[in-house]
Amino acid sequence: MTAELISGKEVAANLRDQIKKEVEEWKDVIVPGLAVILVGDNPASRSYVKGKEKASAEAGIYSELKELPDSISEADLLEMVEAYNDNPSIHGILVQLPLPDHISEKKVIESISPEKDVDGFHPINIGRMMTGQDAFLPCTPFGIIQMLKYKNIDVEGKHAVIVGRSNIVGKPAGQLLLNENATVTYCHSRTADLQQMTTQADILIAAIGRAEFIKAEHVKEGAVVIDVGMNRKENGKLCGDVDFEAVKEKASYITPVPGGVGPMTITMLLYNTLQSAKNHAEREQLKP
Ligand code: NDP
Repeated sequence: MTAELISGKEVAANLRDQIKKEVEEWKDVIVPGLAVILVGDNPASRSYVKGKEKASAEAGIYSELKELPDSISEADLLEMVEAYNDNPSIHGILVQLPLPDHISEKKVIESISPEKDVDGFHPINIGRMMTGQDAFLPCTPFGIIQMLKYKNIDVEGKHAVIVGRSNIVGKPAGQLLLNENATVTYCHSRTADLQQMTTQADILIAAIGRAEFIKAEHVKEGAVVIDVGMNRKENGKLCGDVDFEAVKEKASYITPVPGGVGPMTITMLLYNTLQSAKNHAEREQLKP
């Protein structure tokens, strides 16, 4: 069997078109606004932030970037977040992680108003997600769900195995699949027999951060394989956590890297920002 590709590029382009149309419909009532705070000059963070600015502009979403030096104090950063919390033309606030060691990420995340937490990292949004309430969903796992839906892959009753249990990818990915009525198993670095677990997966999500770690022998014939990993090989080429060439011969569906989950993450950020602006309009009883 050769797997069918799930192109994140295609799914993202489709969704971005819809978001752009909706932003256009709302533009006389409200223009969604996104504030991005970048601390320091980590090149990877800078490149993510640039991508977010560009995508926002293309969708008609207003975005503003606050670039702050590494030396900024935690108190000054918290004050800046507070000012955005109070700014009615900003509907989404994103503080690019990681932050320098002298600043508590936990404190900063918790200082963002849950109503503007378009990354979905605030404990209130995590709690809402866990209890099936309306919430801003974390962008990468939310993107994975959209990819499965786009391909009409039925998740209900399926066994989803997640390799990785980070707060931003693995854990919420499992929770969202559980919300879609999958049976979920989490694996991590202490899992006793990883292969025994992964070969039971109808849907296998790899969110590990290790180049081509998941091999054909980890995968059941016909499984749906979603590769979240973004790693650099020794030759500098980008690759996922899945050995794509070998696994594609066994899986029914597979996401490539690049062009898979990556483009979905920014797309769901745009989606959440638009949603937040619409929530604001509803609170103010504004209609397009
Ligand atoms: P983390 O480093 O936070 O988490 C990695 C997880 O993998 C941990 O839970 C860890 O287990 C587990 N793990 C590590 N080694 C093994 C092993 N040998 N066997 C089983 N499990 C293992 O990473 P993230 O979740 O933040 O990111 C994962 C990958 O996804 C990275 O490549 C990252 O670049 C990429 N990523 C891609 C995004 C996108 O938009 N496409 C967005 C975010 C991340 P333990 O908890 O026990 O340590």
